[in-house]
Amino acid sequence: MALKPLTIRQLRTGTPEPIRGRIASPVVKIIQNRIRKEPGARYRYTYAQVRLWNEHSSGRPYSCIIKNYGSTREPTNYRYTPDSHVWVHCSCPHFKFNLEVVLTLAKSSSIYDAKPNPRTGSILPLIRNPRGQRFICKHLFALLLLVEGRDRKGAVPTI
Ligand SMILES: [Zn+2]
Repeated sequence: MALKPLTIRQLRTGTPEPIRGRIASPVVKIIQNRIRKEPGARYRYTYAQVRLWNEHSSGRPYSCIIKNYGSTREPTNYRYTPDSHVWVHCSCPHFKFNLEVVLTLAKSSSIYDAKPNPRTGSILPLIRNPRGQRFICKHLFALLLLVEGRDRKGAVPTI
């Protein structure tokens, strides 16, 4: 791909402290985790249901997807590291209203609604995220920590 998406480090660095503080006790169910191919690119596809149980969360499960395009130095190493370039998405309202459009402009996400509601979704979050900060929601934050930790210990999927 011509322009690489943001790295995990960039997404994590931009994530405000209150969000990082809300990832205690994640319950993560990984549904798919494999290498996929599409024209011109190969990536590791990780799809998971993430629930967070704490005073800020309902405990509802949300669907998180990460596509890992490797690092600049090791473009075919699909291990999750801070240098991995990733595309991300989460089904939670926070992601949709604050991050989906901002991250899409940085090639690190996509807008999922085919017909976005102009009042609520798929417009620049001028009030909720006026500086266009690129970061991730607590579900993706928890999932990335988990997959990075697993990759440090074990094998990563191969074709
Ligand atoms: Zn989320």
